[in-house]
Amino acid sequence: MTLPKTMRAMLLDAPRSPLRLAEIPVPQPGPGQVLLKVRACGVCHTDLHIVDGELTEPKLPLVLGHQIVGTVVGRGAGAGRFRTGERVGVPWLGSTDGTCPACRRGQENLCDHPVFTGYSVDGGFAEYTVADERFCFPLPDAYADVDAAPLLCAGLIGYRTYRMAGENVEALGFYGFGAAAHLIAQVARFEGKKIYAFTRPGDRAAQEFALRQGADWAGDSTVAPPEPLDAALIFAPVGPLVVEALKAVRKGGVVVCGGIHMSDIPSFPYALLWEERVVRSVANLTRRDGEEFFAVAPKVPVRAEVQTFPLEAADQALNLLRSGGLTGAAVLVV
Ligand SMILES: [Zn+2]
Ligand SMILES: [Zn+2]
Repeated sequence: MTLPKTMRAMLLDAPRSPLRLAEIPVPQPGPGQVLLKVRACGVCHTDLHIVDGELTEPKLPLVLGHQIVGTVVGRGAGAGRFRTGERVGVPWLGSTDGTCPACRRGQENLCDHPVFTGYSVDGGFAEYTVADERFCFPLPDAYADVDAAPLLCAGLIGYRTYRMAGENVEALGFYGFGAAAHLIAQVARFEGKKIYAFTRPGDRAAQEFALRQGADWAGDSTVAPPEPLDAALIFAPVGPLVVEALKAVRKGGVVVCGGIHMSDIPSFPYALLWEERVVRSVANLTRRDGEEFFAVAPKVPVRAEVQTFPLEAADQALNLLRSGGLTGAAVLVV
């Protein structure tokens, strides 16, 4: 198969500007990298935070996209993990140095010199991309391309967030019931948890969506749940939710913030944190999170509610995500 010299890509030239459809060179795979023909790429809140300038150090111009499903069509020097023609997934954590103190502690998600897909290197809003093969995942055959894409960020980082809630969790709250929550709620229900979904006050559509996805209860983020929560997962980038979630968890309960960016957390009385309540964040993912999640996902089976867009409509997908006009996950079909 001969590869074209150039490809279509959606380029971000500068923060707070629309993406631009451009014809750019097909990237060459470097040592240890695979060249992928992109089949589908998920659109994530993090993409929005990059476009909106809230994540301040993107490569520019940039091809966004870090939930890539692609076929291996080329391999760089030393790359041999995947066959040509094999389907793989590329997540947000594109590579690490492997040598910094965090990596040596087994916390590669906290690497001092990480490479993030679609942020510090080009991602998947394009016809082709390159990726470090060590950080790609083989994808379960049970998933079509568009169904696998949202699992690669919303699913993986959502899964890490869920695991950080710890053992001894029965009543589990979700603050923000979008892409990540609707996937992880399925795993939680499979594992016998009771699911409480909190949405923007008055957002009946989101509450009905949560109930359709198997939540036991859905309501406004400002109201108390019918029973105290053992843990709460926050997926909406809204700092005041940390305080609401602390009010809702029992003694010793855990509040886990799953997003990469959040508005400021207002000050709150110490009494809300007292009695060993815990607030923590989750950063990025490890390869192990991915292996665990892709092992459990087909058993549940985790099914993403997906809205698809052509590559050129990436901006439209981002705008819908910004306005809360999406239910489930947006995926670009390339
Ligand atoms: Zn993401
Ligand atoms: Zn490192």
